[in-house]
Amino acid sequence: MKKVFLGAGHGGSDPGATAGGIKEKDVNLEITLIVGRELSRHGVEVKYSRTGDDNEKLNDKIDECNAFSPDLALDIHNNAGGGDGAEVYHHFGGGVGKTLAENILKEMVKAGQNSRGAKTRKNSAGRDYFAFIRETACPAVIVECAFLDNEKDVALISTSGGRKNIATAICKGILATLGIAFVEEPTKSEVLYRVQVGAYKEKENAIKMQERLKAAGFDAIIKQGE
Ligand SMILES: [Zn+2]
Repeated sequence: MKKVFLGAGHGGSDPGATAGGIKEKDVNLEITLIVGRELSRHGVEVKYSRTGDDNEKLNDKIDECNAFSPDLALDIHNNAGGGDGAEVYHHFGGGVGKTLAENILKEMVKAGQNSRGAKTRKNSAGRDYFAFIRETACPAVIVECAFLDNEKDVALISTSGGRKNIATAICKGILATLGIAFVEEPTKSEVLYRVQVGAYKEKENAIKMQERLKAAGFDAIIKQGE
């Protein structure tokens, strides 16, 4: 069974980016939970950094991730500060993390979001700048879904349907990296319950029953069939 660790950025006393009444920690959590639910539906074992409004230390998050020893790890965030579109950071050495980043961004574009590209960032010591990428043992990425202070991006994530689209794009990118085919959620088919009061070999008997029902106030129809 494939395993994926999902970090929901910020939480508790740390709201992350805030703009126009939207708190990054809330959007991150909702998207993360949908990604996890979708991955579980595809038989992937998921561990979350948080499922509520908790403030978790980054080191604890990384320790939890490494103890779980997943195939892939993601920390899900949203941006602010001028710009638009999604970007995904990965290990500067490339590898599976880079593939994951590219797969996610490809799906983001299909979902109507712009891509700012797969990115890397080094610290002054020449290692990965982000601890979540540097200190995790498995391929890890940081996903920035959208800019909370960009009108176009906010339109994409301000509805629950929009957040589900973005989450589904992330899920598809993960599944593609794991070699698992995405299967659409089966839509609930509408079931109609019909009430039958009789079945007659002679049509006149059917008409008699219909007249009785109509007299009693029911909108009875006769249908021919087995
Ligand atoms: Zn963030």
